[in-house]
Amino acid sequence: MAVIDLGAVARNFRRLREIHGGDLAGVVKADAYGLSAARVAPVLAREGAKLLFTAGFDEAMALAPPLTPPGVARAVLDGLSHGGEVDFAESGLLPVLNDLGQVERWAALARRLGRSLPCLLHLDTGMSRLGLDATETARLIADPSDLGLLDVRYVMTHLACADEPGDPLNEWQRARFAAACAKLPPMKRSFANSSGIFLGEGFRSDLARPGAATFGINPTPGKPNPMCPVVALYARILQLRTIPPGDSVGYGASFVARRPTRIATAAIGYADGFPRALSARAMGALDGTEFPLVGRVSMDLTTFDVTDLPEGLAVPGGWVTLMDTANDADALGARANTIGYEILTGLSRRAHRIWRSS
Ligand SMILES: *Cc1c(COP(=O)(O)O)cnc(C)c1O
Repeated sequence: MAVIDLGAVARNFRRLREIHGGDLAGVVKADAYGLSAARVAPVLAREGAKLLFTAGFDEAMALAPPLTPPGVARAVLDGLSHGGEVDFAESGLLPVLNDLGQVERWAALARRLGRSLPCLLHLDTGMSRLGLDATETARLIADPSDLGLLDVRYVMTHLACADEPGDPLNEWQRARFAAACAKLPPMKRSFANSSGIFLGEGFRSDLARPGAATFGINPTPGKPNPMCPVVALYARILQLRTIPPGDSVGYGASFVARRPTRIATAAIGYADGFPRALSARAMGALDGTEFPLVGRVSMDLTTFDVTDLPEGLAVPGGWVTLMDTANDADALGARANTIGYEILTGLSRRAHRIWRSS
């Protein structure tokens, strides 16, 4: 059971805007990092998000009014698909134009329809993933006439190493973006992601695009997390047993008891998004007392050694805490050899989500 605090989402968004000192877009791709875009988008819209980003077209369509107010535009990071131009124009969604071909196709449709079409323009300054590369950017600078047919709400770029403030690539990307923008027709700019907001003055823009930090992920790794915790994860104890020394637990018999051992079996597994990589590498907690996960995480079940708990604390029907403020998505991610982003987006629909507002 994942408990998601939408009040904390709202507070995080407000705090990010204060720190950024300029407008924010909400980033709600991947079902708002696993927390439900349908629940999160209205919260961010209410908090003044100027724009909402999804990855795919369908994700954006699913947030049509009344989920988001008509005044809050929705933008699609994947860009303008081939053959999708008319659908985009009819939907009112904003494509993020990721290459010159997309600029040309969107401008051609604008010419045909006799109206300016809204979009964002994405310049690649160091990710080598999406966006106009340096050659295409130079061509657009040499002939920006297509832009005259378009309502470019923002020109944007995306940072590769924002979570490592000392990485020289941050400054490189800042300089490349500034140089390209200076040579293009004047447009509002969108720059920082969550971590970028914490890089200081030079990374401020007309529109930051925080995702992870809104959802409680630490945008400043290695330093105390400035964000409010958003997600807690619990699993129900199904059964308890005491095994003698020499008996093993779970698949592969990877845990063998060395003493009479009390084992609690809880109803969560990798099918819920609780990574198998956490086998023997995570802790559970009951009433704030921690105890180790033992054996392998299986599809539906996970086992804990509760021998050292006070009598009566671990009972069938009790809820083991697996993720909370003290042990957040970043910490679980580190134990599973991944990042908090993957832990949150990996929570499956079976993990039964509950939303509250503190
Ligand atoms: C996902 C994404 C973001 C948000 O990044 P966070 O690190 O989650 O804040 C911003 N911009 C682009 C282009 C993205 O793909």
